[in-house]
Amino acid sequence: MLTPVVDDDGAPFWEYAAQGELRIQSCADCGELRFPPRPCCPLCRSFATEWRRVAGRGRIWSYVLPHPPLLPEYAEQSPYNVVLVELADAPRIRLVGNLVSEPGARLNSVPAERIRIGARVQVVFTDTGLPQWALERP
Ligand code: ZN
Repeated sequence: MLTPVVDDDGAPFWEYAAQGELRIQSCADCGELRFPPRPCCPLCRSFATEWRRVAGRGRIWSYVLPHPPLLPEYAEQSPYNVVLVELADAPRIRLVGNLVSEPGARLNSVPAERIRIGARVQVVFTDTGLPQWALERP
């Protein structure tokens, strides 16, 4: 499994994720949420930043099923899924991740035929604090 590349702007995202919290960077002056993390607010140009906890619910906005050629660790799990999740409480923010059956499950643990655009998902976290997504139970 590849590990995230952490930069100064994004470090808090990973620190909160390691505690099981999904937080999105927001402007401390105008409140605009932004992702990926960056130093300056695109609306008001403020450099004041805070990290707002979000519910961790969303919908699959789009997805792909990668097939080889892939890096070796990924090739053995293909076809797996990569989902783009639109956050329920910040619909303009979409996070890339994997849909899994439970935290830390293999990337191909959800059969492709169960994946639908618009499906409701809930964030889950691996032992190492990587956010993933699981289908919400009705
Ligand atoms: Zn702002």
